[in-house]
Amino acid sequence: MVVGPLEGATARLIRVGTGAVIRVSDRVTHPGARRFSIAHELGHLVLGHVLPRPDAGVADWAIGAAHLRQRGRGEVDPEVEANAFAAELLIPEALARRRCEVSPVDLTPARGIAREFRTSLVASAVRFVELASERCAVVFAERGRVQWAVPSATFTADIPRGVPLDRASVAHDYMRKGAIDDAPQAVPAAAWIDDPTGEVEVIEHATVLDDLGAVLAMLWVPETAAAQLSMTDA
Ligand SMILES: [Zn+2]
Repeated sequence: MVVGPLEGATARLIRVGTGAVIRVSDRVTHPGARRFSIAHELGHLVLGHVLPRPDAGVADWAIGAAHLRQRGRGEVDPEVEANAFAAELLIPEALARRRCEVSPVDLTPARGIAREFRTSLVASAVRFVELASERCAVVFAERGRVQWAVPSATFTADIPRGVPLDRASVAHDYMRKGAIDDAPQAVPAAAWIDDPTGEVEVIEHATVLDDLGAVLAMLWVPETAAAQLSMTDA
């Protein structure tokens, strides 16, 4: 592994002869995030995403979706595959599952995963919802807008990319006050998802990611709320 400036990527895999070098951007400072970047690049290598560039010498390899299509692999997104590989490598399901079969849901188990597996809180929270038995979703917000959300298998509501944070959400407090009460709190479901009744509450545990200037929120829909929101069929 080499650490140095990299443009437009957090890490890059370069094949050199029979070996490979992973370059990690010096912008990635958190040890957990650095480990995830390296595991992601290893995923590209192990999953066969690296192929010779037509315009390059035999010792020079590059990654690209275009190359995958040439191989007839359809629309498989190599970035999604490499992320899944990294998640399973760093936080194996067999070892993490017991931490994910918990109720009530808040950020505590994700923090436990981050400590045990030496991963970032963001990667740990995503892994938690992937393996969770409860209805929950993790949301990453920056500059007052949802950047992305990852739902658990049973969390069937949609939290679209780019929507502004609702004023009734805990995450929005970061915009208003520059701080968040880092504890699970009941909030109107309508702050995050469709609620035709306007009366349902869900649980939100949000925290500030100081190094990223962002907010990470864990949402949990308890069973009674799920019934009111017609989420129980899933
Ligand atoms: Zn990648």
